[in-house]
Amino acid sequence: MAKPSGVIIYRGPSQLDGQPIIVVATGIAKASSNEKTGDLIQTWILRDDVSPTVAVNTGADASICGTCPHRGRIEGGKNVGRSCYVTIFQAPLNVWKTAHRGKYPQVTPSEARAIFAGRKVRLGSYGDPVAVPFAVWAEALADTSARTGYTHAWRGASVDFAQYVMASCDSVQDAVDAKALGYRTFRVTALPAPQDKRPREIVCPASKEAGYKTTCASCLACGGLTAKAKADVVITVHGSAGKMNNASAFLAA
Ligand code: SF4
Repeated sequence: MAKPSGVIIYRGPSQLDGQPIIVVATGIAKASSNEKTGDLIQTWILRDDVSPTVAVNTGADASICGTCPHRGRIEGGKNVGRSCYVTIFQAPLNVWKTAHRGKYPQVTPSEARAIFAGRKVRLGSYGDPVAVPFAVWAEALADTSARTGYTHAWRGASVDFAQYVMASCDSVQDAVDAKALGYRTFRVTALPAPQDKRPREIVCPASKEAGYKTTCASCLACGGLTAKAKADVVITVHGSAGKMNNASAFLAA
């Protein structure tokens, strides 16, 4: 039998609101073609019962993204003002459909640990890692060589997540608060990042403003407290003009 292109590493209630979610790991066999992320195993945190596109347009994505401001809001049965850089109808929808065709076997956290051994893993290529029990991540990631990830829910989540992920921050105040909790921070700014950089922050080297110097798979700075890098990261808001405009509405200095 051909090796599956992905596996389900968690199927159960969201730790954010108790609704059913799945976590699919892809890129197990081959390198990703995404230029910014490179050769990382990707993990997709999705509502199990409704597709990602339906979830985004009904607000059911709160189960996997919490109260992240980049989700946008629902008006007249439709999402408006979304500024998340993830394009839902591409990878997340494909992964959800493939999962529901039964193409991804479900594995236990210890089986995931063996699959992930020696690899680099992105926690939450879509979706917030804190929607998933920390114990699942802790077991699955135990033998990985490196990790990257972000949470927007750092204010309410277990600080255990600071080991593996960055606190996503939309303001300097967010960054100050997240640092006080023990997180390293990944701050998005509406200003040019090189000029807006704070002490102990570096500009993301994969960003346009830093000249697209590397990929996440080479850099690996955004791996929380267990990353080799110790600095915090800042990046200028990016994505399509519409998304940048939406994000600029709530990004604060
Ligand atoms: S700082 Fe490094 S790991 Fe973080 S987003 Fe930029 S390139 Fe990726």
